[in-house]
Amino acid sequence: MLMGSWPQYGGSLLSPPETGAVARVGTSTPTHGSPMPIAEEDGPATLSFQATQCAICGPGIPAKELYPANFGVDDITPARFSARRLPDRVHYRMVRCLSCGLVRSDPVLDEATLAHLYAESTFDYEAETANLKATYGRYLAKLRAFSNHQDSLLEIGCGDGFFLEQALTQGYSKVRGVEPSEAAIRDASPAIRDQIMCDVMRPGLFADGEFDAVCLFQVFDHVPHPEVVLDACRAALRPGGLILCLNHNVESVSSHIMQERSPIIDIEHTYLYGPATMRRIFEAGGFKVLKQGHVNNTYSVGYITHLVPMPARVKGMALGTLRRSRLGGLTVPVPLGNLYLIASRS
Ligand SMILES: [Zn+2]
Repeated sequence: MLMGSWPQYGGSLLSPPETGAVARVGTSTPTHGSPMPIAEEDGPATLSFQATQCAICGPGIPAKELYPANFGVDDITPARFSARRLPDRVHYRMVRCLSCGLVRSDPVLDEATLAHLYAESTFDYEAETANLKATYGRYLAKLRAFSNHQDSLLEIGCGDGFFLEQALTQGYSKVRGVEPSEAAIRDASPAIRDQIMCDVMRPGLFADGEFDAVCLFQVFDHVPHPEVVLDACRAALRPGGLILCLNHNVESVSSHIMQERSPIIDIEHTYLYGPATMRRIFEAGGFKVLKQGHVNNTYSVGYITHLVPMPARVKGMALGTLRRSRLGGLTVPVPLGNLYLIASRS
């Protein structure tokens, strides 16, 4: 951690700027004329931050600090914002809303910087694709139990589109995806690639009422404005259409035990939800919650090892041993602290 190089603003990391304000922090002048202040080859020059507010309660509600920020400017790279990278416990300052309990990062990198990081991020979980297909497929079947009319499906943050292929096998005839990472879309199978839009979910991207179902898997806690994404999802759904959202559970037993060492306390997560805050934000967004529960993920032993907090060198050796012995490929269903929610457009 390069805390020594961490520039301060407003005197302290613990006193972020007012909502809407942008704090510029600087270390040196850009050396290569790049407009984006991201650590790539020459290192970062400036980073700007944006205060956040509770996505349920709105501005002006006090929050309690859970953990102070623990990263330096050099930590801000596209690799840090890549799908399924090794968890390394780098995070923003994290707070909990004193009114509703929603956990969030505050302040966070400004949106243009974040958009750039996600566009340049990579997608490296092919090894787990079969297991994710099995897990997500089970929850899609739960959604389908609420509606006979399921023909078109949209996935937000679809990566290389592996779940869209799963949706086709479950009988959807029209599948579309939205994904900011160009590299992920390049990896999509030719049958799916043209159905993926390189973008982030926002109002107006799709026609009103275009889809019977919208799915978000491990995406909702990454978006900087979840209420805006929910508005856009609601508009894209036909009346009575269904949404399925699966993400981390900040109120899970493992999260309470591991606290700051939990892999979900991560710079990629702008908001972290528990069952109650998930329900509230969906209801506030005009959805009727039909079902909620804990997720049993199908994981390989290798991937579980990948998540467990331990020194990087030890983890590298353990992963190598598992790979060579093929034990790493064994799969087990485990409740790893995720939750899901199924709701209808009311
Ligand atoms: Zn709140």
